[in-house]
Amino acid sequence: MSKTQGTWGDEVAKRLEGMVALRRDFHRHPELSFAEQRTSHIIAERLTTAGLEVKTGIAKTGVVGILRGDTPGKTIAWRADIDALPLTETLRAPFTSGTPGVMHACGHDGHTAIAITAAEILAARRKELPGTAVFIFQPAEEVLAGAKPMIEAGVLEHPRVDEIYGLHLTTQDKTGTVNVRRGPTMASIGPSYRPWARRATCSPACCGFSALAVVGAARPAASAPARNSRKRMDALLLLESGKSSYAASAIEQDGHSPSLSTTRSRRPQ
Ligand SMILES: [Zn+2]
Repeated sequence: MSKTQGTWGDEVAKRLEGMVALRRDFHRHPELSFAEQRTSHIIAERLTTAGLEVKTGIAKTGVVGILRGDTPGKTIAWRADIDALPLTETLRAPFTSGTPGVMHACGHDGHTAIAITAAEILAARRKELPGTAVFIFQPAEEVLAGAKPMIEAGVLEHPRVDEIYGLHLTTQDKTGTVNVRRGPTMASIGPSYRPWARRATCSPACCGFSALAVVGAARPAASAPARNSRKRMDALLLLESGKSSYAASAIEQDGHSPSLSTTRSRRPQ
């Protein structure tokens, strides 16, 4: 590190406000799966300005940014999902969704803003970067359709990725808490289900009787792929915290209509 260059912490601190503003901009302008045109455009623009090699239009609206460091080393990828959900936001805030019926209810606005900022920080410190960093912005996570076509398009092969990382925001822990787990997490998709409920709340923090009813309705589906209690607990926790929120919110808007949701587990077994 040169005497004139700050620490890595300084790099984060000076971008923090901008990252929050970027996240709120994405939140204000959510786009559904495979329709993330504006989002992709902003991602590509920011990565290009930062000096990355940028590929667009992968799996329709996916973007990849490649940053080659000044010294040899591994190729490490960071993946962020970028799509929103078909929900109407009831929150009133300056950054509330401006698109009726579409909302970043799963945190992908944050994932996208974080990944762009991380790319910009690494680009600013390229001289200290051994190897290559690949930033993968994946569309259509919510409809379980974006990852495969991106892989088939070769995003893990050109250049060949040695390791890949990602994150998912949660409201389950205090702000500032980071949980880390080695290996795959939420990487296996289980059976889909259509829970029924008349009205339900929408966030893990406010899971009332209706949300619990959704979880109860989904219990057989959740336990179907689980062969021991630990795995079953994983599936149920995810239902209560993540995808059941989606189901519950959609039910609230559709009145009596059932809505499709999915189960996730750490591994296919
Ligand atoms: Zn998500």
